[in-house]
Amino acid sequence: MANESFSRKDFLKKVSLFGMVAAGSSAVLSACGGGESTSTEQTAGEPTAAADPCSDLSGLSDQDKQMRTSLGYVKAGTDPEKRCDNCNFYVAPAEGSPCGGCTLFKGPVHPEGYCNSWIAVPAKTS
Ligand code: SF4
Repeated sequence: MANESFSRKDFLKKVSLFGMVAAGSSAVLSACGGGESTSTEQTAGEPTAAADPCSDLSGLSDQDKQMRTSLGYVKAGTDPEKRCDNCNFYVAPAEGSPCGGCTLFKGPVHPEGYCNSWIAVPAKTS
């Protein structure tokens, strides 16, 4: 019986200690800005979504963002011969928009962008 009482007391101490650790971790994360995410994945020094609408990922899910990353999408490729706007998967911008799209993933695409799935638009035969 005494042993059972001790176990309950020990359990309550551990639960109390866990609560303090959890609260402390939460406070540290809040102070660091952790635990929250921005909707445009911007870091210091990068243009805002208003200045660069083709980088605004605010309407995308984490899975959609992951797809862009896994394909190696970048907003400006290094080979001028391989750009989104001459890729077979490119979707031309809607009138008045600077951003196109891609049939492989969701979200805006820079015309001068690039990813690992780039493939040339087939030459027309006539
Ligand atoms: Fe751009 Fe890649 Fe999509 Fe082609 S497949 S349009 S290179 S993002």
